[in-house]
Amino acid sequence: MKFLIIGAGLTGSVIARVLAESGFQCRVIEKEKHVAGNCHTDRDPQTGILKHHFGPHTLHSDNSRVWQFIESFTSIEPYRHRKRAWVKGRAYPFPINLETVNAFFDEQLTEDNIATFLEAKAAPFYTDSPANFEDAALASLGQELYEGFFKGYTNKQWGRDPKDIPASVFRRLPIHFKKDSNVFHHKRQGQPREGYTKLVEKILAHENIQLENGRRFSRTAPTDEFRHLFYSGPLDEFFDYSYGRLPYRTLRFEHEVRRGTFQDCGTVNYCDEEIPYTRIFEHKHFSPWESFPEETVITYEYSHECSGNDRPYYPIHLSGQNSLYEKYVARAKEETRTSFVGRLGTFRYIDMDRAIEEALLAAETTVSCLTNGTAIPTFFHN
Ligand SMILES: Cc1cc2nc3c(=O)[nH]c(=O)nc-3n(C[C@H](O)[C@H](O)[C@H](O)COP(=O)(O)OP(=O)(O)OC[C@H]3O[C@@H](n4cnc5c(N)ncnc54)[C@H](O)[C@@H]3O)c2cc1C
Repeated sequence: MKFLIIGAGLTGSVIARVLAESGFQCRVIEKEKHVAGNCHTDRDPQTGILKHHFGPHTLHSDNSRVWQFIESFTSIEPYRHRKRAWVKGRAYPFPINLETVNAFFDEQLTEDNIATFLEAKAAPFYTDSPANFEDAALASLGQELYEGFFKGYTNKQWGRDPKDIPASVFRRLPIHFKKDSNVFHHKRQGQPREGYTKLVEKILAHENIQLENGRRFSRTAPTDEFRHLFYSGPLDEFFDYSYGRLPYRTLRFEHEVRRGTFQDCGTVNYCDEEIPYTRIFEHKHFSPWESFPEETVITYEYSHECSGNDRPYYPIHLSGQNSLYEKYVARAKEETRTSFVGRLGTFRYIDMDRAIEEALLAAETTVSCLTNGTAIPTFFHN
């Protein structure tokens, strides 16, 4: 029995691996020349520095099974992600924490009185049911911090006024009332020693997996030889955008090689609206076990609306505007031989640990369905 898996990102590769280990033949087709999809890494030809091509990636998870799965293919080096936010010519620790607030307001607050200080700042904007991102940010931090750290950045990142973005987006952002600039608090955090692309190549290295790079899937191609298809490309593209395009933000990257070291952490958010880029990331910080004191590669990241042949990065979910997505979901459910998986197949932002967890579940559910003679689901996530 044979399966066709479209896309050799983490999702497609993990599904292929589990099915291959269960004795099934898998053909994986990937339109790019490389595997690993959005987390593709390779060496910069000039400096040898490991480069994160489509945005900086950090592994962080509380799921021990996912961690063990990754560790069965690569060693994971310790890494804790650090960020700063650049506001009006000065870099602050980020996410916002006690140190940020003290530096920004030139105060000497402690863990005991920071909450009272911020409550006073937020009091003029108090509401217990904020209608949007701006209301939620003002009601929690007050005007200065909102305008400094979030207003311009959110406008650039999403191309939308924060008043048009749901309050839930702000509520997901961490704010710490103590000295704590950890971006993530998961039990396990790190980076695969040889990068993400080598990890995915190892996941795909199995005698039951046949990988074809540089091949784009089209629905008109014959697929009768396959028992079932797993599609991890964009949901709307599968149906030739017949209802229109699902909204995404895309990113443009400008890479630069420089001497020495540019910044003291992996990522700096540029919050001021006048600065056209949203972030600068410096690749060598993501592989701290490697030593490149002489040279560095930095990347300027610009965000804009996705159209034409742009790569889709961040799905845009605005309240009350999911009807297009729901139409595609209904259409997908009419496909009896295809499952839609991964970040693009399900039109969601998912972290890598979640992508792996869901891919393990998809493959294991498929094996059970074949054993029990039940239908393989169109979607596996809730
Ligand atoms: C900017 C950015 C930064 C991120 N940073 C982090 C992070 O720090 N930590 C974290 O855990 N997660 C991060 N993520 C999320 C992470 O990138 C995803 O979890 C992961 O890429 C999901 O893998 P996937 O296989 O589902 O999708 P993808 O990686 O997008 O893989 C899909 C694959 O399908 C291929 N494909 C598409 N259409 C076709 C077709 N028609 N025919 C053939 N092949 C096709 C694509 O080329 C691609 O290789 C980040 C995401 C973004 C956008």
